[in-house]
Amino acid sequence: MQVIQSIEQIRQLVRQWRQLEKTIGFVPTMGNLHQGHLSLVEEAQKCADKVIVSIFVNPTQFAPGEDFTSYPRTLQEDQEKLENAQVDVLFVPDREEIYFPDESTRINVSGLSEQYCGASRTGHFSGVATVVCKLLNIVQPDSAVFGQKDFQQLRVIQRMVRDLNIPVKIKSMPTFRGLDGLAMSSRNSYLTPEQKATAPELYQALLDAKEAILACRQGYPEIEHQQISRLRCSGFDPEYFVICRSLDLHSAKSDDTDLVILTAAKLGKTRLIDNIEFIKKI
Ligand code: AMP
Repeated sequence: MQVIQSIEQIRQLVRQWRQLEKTIGFVPTMGNLHQGHLSLVEEAQKCADKVIVSIFVNPTQFAPGEDFTSYPRTLQEDQEKLENAQVDVLFVPDREEIYFPDESTRINVSGLSEQYCGASRTGHFSGVATVVCKLLNIVQPDSAVFGQKDFQQLRVIQRMVRDLNIPVKIKSMPTFRGLDGLAMSSRNSYLTPEQKATAPELYQALLDAKEAILACRQGYPEIEHQQISRLRCSGFDPEYFVICRSLDLHSAKSDDTDLVILTAAKLGKTRLIDNIEFIKKI
């Protein structure tokens, strides 16, 4: 596996691969890799001849006071995992390679970015959209793979790629979970053993809400309130628990069929997010 830090070198290598008519798959990450990330790599390898993984802890997607400085950085271990997974290139640019000191361009995907995670994380999705757009411009892959774990982020990226005619196929992979149901996340390492035992309750709340929806037991606002109270009782500080239309994340009505339930809740200082997507037959 080649480890590359400069945009110029990535471009040179991609040019060579293109001359050899190789297709290129791309997986952008912030590192501290787990099996969820590796499932994206596997998917990228299925669809492309060469795979590039990037690790870049993107400063512009952290709101002031968030965990940018303490975000787990484990480059050595990540590199080993990617070597074992037979990734072709690891792209690890530093901040100066990605952002000019006087950079002044931001991408705003309005309508999808303001609510839910965007409401509490000011500028978060603008930072995500900007860095993903830049990385896609740098790597120019045929396909790029993202996780459904970050469902709102996935929708923001899909909309941006569509609206800006970026020539890349966006693929997504299901959320990779531990045996207890907890969605794998780099931030799980912040949890104490006690919090780790409580954390799977977040997914259980999603499963129970899904069941209630499919059984048409209650109205959506009632289901949302019930699960928020339940999370509070279990020790979470819930931020949102919303039943949405999967495609545009608008609040769902009872006759919508393609649904996603999105939730974010803090456990101590750790903010967890999760979601469940499903179809309700009418
Ligand atoms: P991150 O390093 O957290 O920015 O995530 C990089 C990519 O991995 C994003 O597309 C995430 O949605 C995806 N990802 C993170 N956790 C998981 C998971 N548990 N299952 C599947 N994909 C994930």
